[in-house]
Amino acid sequence: MNFYGNYITRLIEELSALPGIGQKSAQRMAFYIINMPKDKAKALAEAIVEARSNIKYCSVCCNISDTDICPVCSNPKRDHSVIMVVEDPRDMAAYEKTKEFKGVYHVLHGAISPMTGIGPNDIRIKELLERIKEEPPAEIIIATNPNVEGEATAMYLSRLIKPLGIKVSRIANGVPVGGDLEYVDEVTLSRALEGRREM
Ligand SMILES: [Zn+2]
Repeated sequence: MNFYGNYITRLIEELSALPGIGQKSAQRMAFYIINMPKDKAKALAEAIVEARSNIKYCSVCCNISDTDICPVCSNPKRDHSVIMVVEDPRDMAAYEKTKEFKGVYHVLHGAISPMTGIGPNDIRIKELLERIKEEPPAEIIIATNPNVEGEATAMYLSRLIKPLGIKVSRIANGVPVGGDLEYVDEVTLSRALEGRREM
């Protein structure tokens, strides 16, 4: 299927490998790109290369960051004695939008999922344990997604952390089951945080 020549075919192939982009969307995007002004197309390509090669992770909370320590972790006005554990940087962004949470975060970059072979060592759990052993917080709020993987991860973390004498709580079920936290509205997230219960 090489109606368009190698250049466009390759572009379509690369684009269709992205999540949620089928052949048709990839074609539409490819034709849009080749009709863009040259400098716009170059800026797009450079943004991809630069984001990919310069991406860093905060050495404290593992969030994506431009700097060694992210703005939340380096902010003295945040309450460093409360750590909210989330699956994904986008979940953290969702909670930041509510402006309700004054503590700090830990980003796991995934959840435990035996079905797809993701175990505790594949996400940033070790980093969390090292962090809280060094400086034990007063409370850890587990805000993993309310689906099977998120619940399994919450149980696993609770079992590891509670014996250390740290209070562990779980966000309330205000969030629809199976929903990604990222898509939940801010009011629901605030309520889920407010109504958290101790594990
Ligand atoms: Zn950080």
